[in-house]
Amino acid sequence: MGSRFFTAEHEALRERIRGFVRAELAPHVDEWEAREQFPREIFKRMGELGLLGLRYPEEYGGQGRDYFAAVVLSEELARCGIGGLPMAVAVHAEMATPPIFQFGTEEQKQRYLAPAIRGEKVACLGITEPNAGSDVAAIQTTARSDSQPIASKDGAGWVINGRKIFITNGIQADFITLLARTESAGTDLARTDKQKSYDGLSLFLVDKGTPGFEVARKVEKVGMRSSDTAELVFEDCRVPGDALLGQQGRGFHQIMWELQGERLIAAAGAVATAGHILELTVKYVGERQRSGGRLVLSQTAAHTLAEMATRIEAARQLTYATAWKFANNLYPVKEISMAKLIAARTAFWVADRALEIHGGDGCPKGHPIERFWRDTRLNRIAGGTDEIMLEIISRELELR
Ligand SMILES: Cc1cc2nc3c(=O)[nH]c(=O)nc-3n(C[C@H](O)[C@H](O)[C@H](O)COP(=O)(O)OP(=O)(O)OC[C@H]3O[C@@H](n4cnc5c(N)ncnc54)[C@H](O)[C@@H]3O)c2cc1C
Repeated sequence: MGSRFFTAEHEALRERIRGFVRAELAPHVDEWEAREQFPREIFKRMGELGLLGLRYPEEYGGQGRDYFAAVVLSEELARCGIGGLPMAVAVHAEMATPPIFQFGTEEQKQRYLAPAIRGEKVACLGITEPNAGSDVAAIQTTARSDSQPIASKDGAGWVINGRKIFITNGIQADFITLLARTESAGTDLARTDKQKSYDGLSLFLVDKGTPGFEVARKVEKVGMRSSDTAELVFEDCRVPGDALLGQQGRGFHQIMWELQGERLIAAAGAVATAGHILELTVKYVGERQRSGGRLVLSQTAAHTLAEMATRIEAARQLTYATAWKFANNLYPVKEISMAKLIAARTAFWVADRALEIHGGDGCPKGHPIERFWRDTRLNRIAGGTDEIMLEIISRELELR
């Protein structure tokens, strides 16, 4: 591992998580994939082990560790044999809850962040809509000022209407960190339409069970099957004024901040998954040779394994260097986008080559390699597609 970035404490944490993954996750992944859901007790158990608040302060039940502790978790979860569970945990601990810590009031932190760290409340993040994914500023879910506010500390409430789709943990979540439009395009002619879209968004924390907030359906996916994905609907869903997270009208900027952490942790997970697939493939090739099987480690196969190792190492080093900047309070948007792009592409390329090397052996349903082949494909879409990463990089390079 990259010792420049990891201390002895990180390595001790790694060993502890590896033991947990081996004993408590890996034996059950086939069943969870088949059921298209892992049990929510896993969140509770990970909360007990302190794994859901590694880098949150102790006052909220966190471990007060640094960003590389979160990288270690992401790397070790990748070894459980499926992509869905690590993705669901990342959504909970590294995507839906960081905005609460960063922008929330003390009361919101106690009400949502602390129980999420304990694994008692499951979190999901609602950005994508049926008509708005890559273009976040185009979301149509509205939160309008409530003319009959329900009782809350600051009086004024909100009425939310709209739909969110592809929401990880959407079935079992207890609350959603939600992006909604609090202002229509407006009438200020001095501002461009785009500017009006950016300024009109806000974040909210909405409890499952609030009247008007329903799960419309479970979305069955090609991969990441063990994590539940939902379409959620809000119909005249009334929430109190203190459901607003952070500053009204700053939601776009807040969610762009969130997306940087989301993409970086996704990159770390994708690289680790690629590394795990390589390990499995090298083992497979070795076993086939020892048993005199039909696979001959030709120069071509050896070169493929060597290229896998090279691409993985390149993606890993960029991810670590970028994580170091992020951990040191820099905001490396270009490098995060590059890391997400190269890591996601590398993971899928490695899975695809691994499937080729396994031949028919890798194809039966439920085989780890066929599963990784399906799971890693989604890394190139979730959290921002390859094309969106290229779009951001080209903007950052001032190519357009
Ligand atoms: C496994 C998984 C989990 C997810 N979890 C969540 C979640 O928890 N919460 C959440 O809010 N969302 C979630 N999503 C949604 C995800 O963020 C979106 O699918 C993604 O951002 C792409 O948006 P879209 O699906 O609307 O595709 P679109 O934006 O419609 O894109 C379709 C195609 O057009 C391309 N395209 C779009 N705009 C441009 C452009 N400007 N330039 C070039 N090409 C472009 C895209 O790259 C893509 O190829 C998840 C998705 C998946 C697959």
